[in-house]
Amino acid sequence: MSKKPVGHKARKRFGQNFLQDQGIIHRIIRAISPHPTDHLVEIGPGLGALTEEILNAAGDLDAIELDRDLVPILRTKFFNYAEHFRVHQADAMKFDYTSLCDDQRPLRIVGNLPYNISTQLIFHLLSYNKQIADMHFMLQKEVVERLAAKAGEKHYGRLSLMAQYYCQVENLFLVPPEAFNPVPKVDSAIVRLTPHKQLPFVARDVDQLQSVVKTAFNQRRKTLRNNLKELISAEALESLEINPGERPERLTLQEFIRISDFLCEQEK
Ligand code: SAM
Repeated sequence: MSKKPVGHKARKRFGQNFLQDQGIIHRIIRAISPHPTDHLVEIGPGLGALTEEILNAAGDLDAIELDRDLVPILRTKFFNYAEHFRVHQADAMKFDYTSLCDDQRPLRIVGNLPYNISTQLIFHLLSYNKQIADMHFMLQKEVVERLAAKAGEKHYGRLSLMAQYYCQVENLFLVPPEAFNPVPKVDSAIVRLTPHKQLPFVARDVDQLQSVVKTAFNQRRKTLRNNLKELISAEALESLEINPGERPERLTLQEFIRISDFLCEQEK
């Protein structure tokens, strides 16, 4: 069942935990369900555990790998797929994804992400929501719980709100540490993010919304009145039918948008 990667020592600084459980790999591929007409982008292909299965099913695949040593290994390994497989030695956090959108097909993004950069990377990718059909990621279990959490739940916060502003979020399944080599200290999970074709709720200014949400969650245990006091008065919150004594984790996306739109109106 388990194949140890040979010829490359896993690098901690690149968050390298290579998938080695074929059962899990197949389950992930079934969840992604790549199709010959799809254009996929794999972030952090590593030694190609998912890459091979994707190449067997998908049309085009662009892979973005930061570790220079892995790039020639991938090119050699997948030489037979050269016509529809490109490896970019690049940082996925700085990559311009629009440069890959050379046709009408929205991108399908996949990746067993390096956990140290996963939330920042997701924020970065959300800004490309119009170019993306869907995203399937392996993440630390807690990050998936934060992405999927609803108002009032323990893990609800900035990541849940901004991800759900742009995407439908599905927590698909858990992956145990033993599925990787080296074995990580944390549990993992697979999440699917599907950008809304039309946003269900639209903020006048998304940067303003981001800033309100960030400020509101500065101190989770404090009330909105306290966290937002530099931005909006308790009276103004009441006029928006929002209780200033409430904790930020109880506010829905629509309520945050109401605050953000009110502030835009004030700035006019
Ligand atoms: N996909 C492989 C697998 O499932 O076995 C490897 C997954 S490993 C958790 C994360 C991969 O992301 C590594 O190959 C690592 O070198 C790469 N990586 C780390 N930081 C990156 C970055 N900023 N941009 C692109 N790739 C990165």
